Amino acid sequence: MNETYDLAIVGMGFAGYTGGIYAARYGLKTVIIGDVFGGQTAEAHIIGNYPGFEEITGMELMQRVQAQTLKLGVTEIYERVNHVKVHGNDTGFELELANGKTVTTKKVLLTIGMNRRKLNVPGESEFYGKGVTYCATCDGYFFKGKDVAVIGGGDSAVTAALYLADICNSVQLLVRSDQLRAEQYWINKLEQNKKITVRFNSGIEKFTGGETLETIHTTNTENPEIHVSGAFIEIGHAPNKTFTEAIGITTDEHGFIIVDKNQQTSQKGIFAAGDSTNASNKFAQLLTAASEAAIAVEAITKGE
Ligand code: NDP
Repeated sequence: MNETYDLAIVGMGFAGYTGGIYAARYGLKTVIIGDVFGGQTAEAHIIGNYPGFEEITGMELMQRVQAQTLKLGVTEIYERVNHVKVHGNDTGFELELANGKTVTTKKVLLTIGMNRRKLNVPGESEFYGKGVTYCATCDGYFFKGKDVAVIGGGDSAVTAALYLADICNSVQLLVRSDQLRAEQYWINKLEQNKKITVRFNSGIEKFTGGETLETIHTTNTENPEIHVSGAFIEIGHAPNKTFTEAIGITTDEHGFIIVDKNQQTSQKGIFAAGDSTNASNKFAQLLTAASEAAIAVEAITKGE
């Protein structure tokens, strides 16, 4: 007979572990389940807007939060959760894992983050792993001393460009519109960095090359062809609709999980926190993810 948890947290990112800290401190028997540790936070080169840390790498922050959580007695299971089955009649939930095992729990907190957005242009999948990548901190060192491009114009793209400028020979930031939407703090750093060239009005048409990537073809009329060894696609993330819709949870027109003021979803007993929800004005930050997880756990403790 499986043991029953008070709370199963699905997702191993910042919201998940924050939920774990609060749950353990409230005395809930808690498990955190996911296939990859750290979520988007672990991939962030530098975080400079989390109070108390002037600058910290995403991985170090995640490891600190994980250590704090585990010290409080929370269990971790490294496995993908395929589905959350609702028992009905308020008797809890069964989490179906990819290894065929199940976990039973009274309440669920979904901190499932988002899926990486893709460009969906010719050559993107062909050159994936052969020059095209989606993670600067994971793959940057393979391009040491080389010429690379970063695609996107938000905080992810700008911080990736800054990170790569320390490793690579040159970095071209390809922005599809005529403006960046990153924090001004990062834009200032970008402007001061001589290794980075920003190219506006540069939408991506296709990737070409031989064995590996050689050229990025853009919509820019002055510089339509960018010759680089690496292309880092950093164009944001989108919610995982397939997973939430299969559980029967209501999402908005973009696939974000709709939650109430207690972070409870349309399915009683299933709560959600972090980037995948419509909470906090969809302001996807570490601070909001952590707050939402804390609010959810407090509501669970009060019997919501
Ligand atoms: P954003 O959604 O903020 O930005 C996505 C960027 O990609 C935009 O510039 C967008 O262009 C561009 N884009 C989207 N689709 C395409 C496409 N098909 N072709 C070309 N460009 C495209 O995502 P981020 O991942 O940058 O940030 C998400 C959240 O995470 C934000 O709240 C951010 O503040 C936070 N974050 C903070 C970091 C930090 O402080 N260290 C690091 C990373 C993220 P357009 O503007 O034209 O739509």
